[in-house]
Order: sequence, then structure tokens, then C-alpha cells
Amino acid sequence: MNNLPKSAYVHIPFCHRRCFYCDFSVIPVGDKVTSVYGLENKIINDYLYILKKEILSIKHKSSLSTIYIGGGTPSILDPLQIGEIIKIFKINYGIDNGAEITMEVDPASFEESDMYGFIKAGVNRFSLGAQSFNNQTLKKAGRRHESNDVKKSCSWLSKAKNGNYIKSWSLDLIQNLPCNDFDNWRFDLENALNYNPPHISIYDLIVEEGTVFKKLKDSGLLHLPNDEESYKNSELTSTILKQSGYTRYEISNYSIPGHQSRHNRVYWNGLGWWGFGQGSTSSPWGKKFTRPRDNKEYTKWVIHQSEVNLDESLVSTSYQELELDEKIMLGMRLKEGINIKKTFKENGWDEQISRINFEKLIKIWEKYRAVGLICNEGDRYYLSDPKGMELSNQILISMFEWWEKIN
Ligand code: SF4
Repeated sequence: MNNLPKSAYVHIPFCHRRCFYCDFSVIPVGDKVTSVYGLENKIINDYLYILKKEILSIKHKSSLSTIYIGGGTPSILDPLQIGEIIKIFKINYGIDNGAEITMEVDPASFEESDMYGFIKAGVNRFSLGAQSFNNQTLKKAGRRHESNDVKKSCSWLSKAKNGNYIKSWSLDLIQNLPCNDFDNWRFDLENALNYNPPHISIYDLIVEEGTVFKKLKDSGLLHLPNDEESYKNSELTSTILKQSGYTRYEISNYSIPGHQSRHNRVYWNGLGWWGFGQGSTSSPWGKKFTRPRDNKEYTKWVIHQSEVNLDESLVSTSYQELELDEKIMLGMRLKEGINIKKTFKENGWDEQISRINFEKLIKIWEKYRAVGLICNEGDRYYLSDPKGMELSNQILISMFEWWEKIN
């Protein structure tokens, strides 16, 4: 069978407590965690039992070239539990030689000995949720770790990379958190660069409904960098990281050569992947499907699936191309952008329809091109860095409006 997904995402929803900006599907388990916590905890073991059932429920599968264990906080689990998840994939799907196996780790629940345990279990890439090196910022964001925990984790990961125990690692930071003025943000970036992470993700803070940040914002108590300050921070990020040899290969992701996230590329290139665990999204056949975010509902859903196997994301065998607007949106997030005419052709449009729709889109984009937000080389269109990438939202919204009008 062609086009079977080669990638799997696994969601581990446990966290010590919920950070003030987080709206992920998370189960807070309290602060009293030790490195063997995951092994002894009933809620975690019950979840892993159901998760394995879900992974085993897929009928048509092929060997995997990327696995991403995210969360939540997967480093709350014991290395034995992580090893068991990887083993299930190995036995039932197969794992390709040289596959990328990433695990997210949190500085508050990460020890050097655990890291080597996770490596022994099969993990070869780590993503460290540092968020900041500034204690005041971390406290205001409701994080449990401090700057020293981040620094210790970075030095262990750097040592493991230099000793060839892992292929790569990523340092994740959040831009525009409280206290992230220009100087503090520069402090974060400079600290990050001290450890030479091969990959850096810089996420922009989004204040989501239902979070502590949203409540603070509504009460006028959340003090974030304003638009001008945010733009200056973004410019600084792009300049400093480029000067240090990083390429901004996607709006939020920078890497040195050879260290792009292969797993995330699957999402951005519109390829299929399996998603397992509560709240996770699967897109094995082009169409997206999200599991229930609530633990009880997710458990019920998996049990139901294993009895009747109804959901088409588990049983379909035919691949559907992504919708064209989604393809353009994902492509425009990448440094290389997207060849618009080629994408139209792949969408099945004949030459005349392609030409008419192309002209309409380019007319809308002309104002962005005139001020250097969008660039093109022939039919390949891409966002300029940092200007276009920072204002990507309005450019992509204009594309969605075009899509609605022509449909
Ligand atoms: S550690 Fe990550 S997933 Fe967990 S609550 Fe904080 S931001 Fe959310």
C-alpha cells in the first residue's frame, strides 16, 4: 500500500502543574515528582495502557522514519516506560535505520542519568522546553524550573551531542513573555548560544482562552512587550541567530546545517503522520482527525475503537491530498516558500483556471510584494525574513480570503 505514514507523534499529557500560558491537553500531577515517579503512578500507568492499545489498533502500517514523543512533559516518565513505547513501534511498525526519535524534556524533571536512560531506550534527539534563562520571566510564566536547571540541562545535552550519544537537540524559547524587553531577550539569546544547540525553536507567545494569562490580560495585569517591542525582539532574534550560523528554515525554527527537525518537516510538507494519545491530531491520509482532549473521553474512545474500529483515520487506505489553501499556508511558513503554479497543477487545475486564480492571488499579494514582505523567484513565492515572517498572519489571512472567494 502506497503513502502509508512514516511518522508518529505520541502525546504524554502529564505535567507537574499547568503553566500560565498553556492550553494544551495536560493532566497536572503535582510537584512531588522523582525520576521514578512515572513508574509508580497509577494515572500514568493507566494512560500508557490505553495509549498502547491505540497504537496497536492501526491495521495498515509501515515502518517509521520519525517518532516524536511530546506533551505535556514526557520526561516525567521513567526511561523504561519511554523504552516500552519505542519497543511497541519497533515490533509492530518497524523503525527504519537512522530514524529520528525525538523526546521533549522539561528542565524541572530532567536528570543527566535519566537522559542516558532515555538514550538507551532509543531516543536520539531531545527538545528542551527552556522557554527563558531569566528567573523573573520563568516565574511570571508559571514555570517550575529556574535558569540554573536550564543551564544544567543544556550542558548535559551538549555533552551528549559532542560525545555522539545523540544526533541532535533543540532548545525551545518563548519570545515576548512578560519581562522580555529588548535587553532581557538579548540575554536569553546569548545564553542559548553559549551551549551551541544545533536547533533552536522560538515561539511567539499567544494568549489563549482559559489560561491564567488570559485572565490577567482581561484584568489589565498582564504586561507584555507591545507590537513595536515585539518586532524589535524578532529582528534581534533573526540577526543574532543568522550571525551565529543558523538558518531560519521555518517561521519559528532555526538550525545549523543538517539539524532541521525531520519530524516537523513532515507536517509542513503536508505528508501523513499518525498521532496517538489524548488531544493529539492524526493525519495519516491527508484528512485531519483529533482525539478527545479529556482523559475519560479519550479512554472511552480508544476502547470503542478497538471494539468496532470505526474512525476512518484508523481504517482508510486511500490518501487524500491536503486542501490547496492549507498547502500554501504550510509552504509559505518555510524559508523556501512554495511554487504556486506547480501546486495549482498538482491540485488538478487546468492551465486556464490556474492562470485566472494565480492572477487573482498575485493581485492581492502585490501590496505585500511592493513593501518587501513577499518575494518571488519565478513562480516560487516566499516570505522575507524577518519582515515578512513577522507579519505572516496578515499575508496568510489574505490568501484564505482569496481561497474562499474562488470556491
Ligand atoms: S510544561 Fe508545557 S505542556 Fe506542561 S503545562 Fe507547561 S507549557 Fe503546558
